[in-house]
Amino acid sequence: MHLTKCNLCTEVRSHLSVLKEKHPDYYCQPVSGSGNLHSKICLIGLAPGLHGANKTGIPFTSDFSGDIIRNLLKELEIEDIYITNTVRCYPKNNKPDTRTINNCQMHNHMEISKLTNIRIIITLGVVAYNQILKMYNFCGNSNKFKHGKIIKLNKKISLISSYHCSKLNFNTHKITKDMLKQIFVKAKKAIKNG
Ligand code: URA
Repeated sequence: MHLTKCNLCTEVRSHLSVLKEKHPDYYCQPVSGSGNLHSKICLIGLAPGLHGANKTGIPFTSDFSGDIIRNLLKELEIEDIYITNTVRCYPKNNKPDTRTINNCQMHNHMEISKLTNIRIIITLGVVAYNQILKMYNFCGNSNKFKHGKIIKLNKKISLISSYHCSKLNFNTHKITKDMLKQIFVKAKKAIKNG
């Protein structure tokens, strides 16, 4: 199913139509991942921000989290990256429910399976972390979320977990710019060390 035609979450789609009336210049559609499909790193966030990816149609652009991520990538000279979200439609109140999260898993499978050289998946936040673990059939309590954890998903691909770089997490010092930077440094090292 093509992403723009996806109607698995009917309430979410009708809420996007209402938003489109309010903001005619906004994208207000499911936002696909963006970047080179041959990238070795995939970054997966939560969901489009109302005035960010929901406006532009590109994940992590035009909002607080987007600026943090894009500036860090520039600073670390990381271009080899594919950026996407666990949930592709802006969720009401910025909080996707379980059904929406599970409905979008199909698109996670489809997008990640297209990344032919993928070696590292960086998950931002617990929702992305859990959905990626599920995708690789990691179940149970032995993989509790922890910032900076590295989990080998299969022979080729590892996950690196991070807190989400939301404004709230920055304001409450759950994550700092340096903590996030270290996640990308780990990813670069992991790729370099083969
Ligand atoms: N913008 C995104 O695209 N995803 C997030 O998780 C946050 C902001």
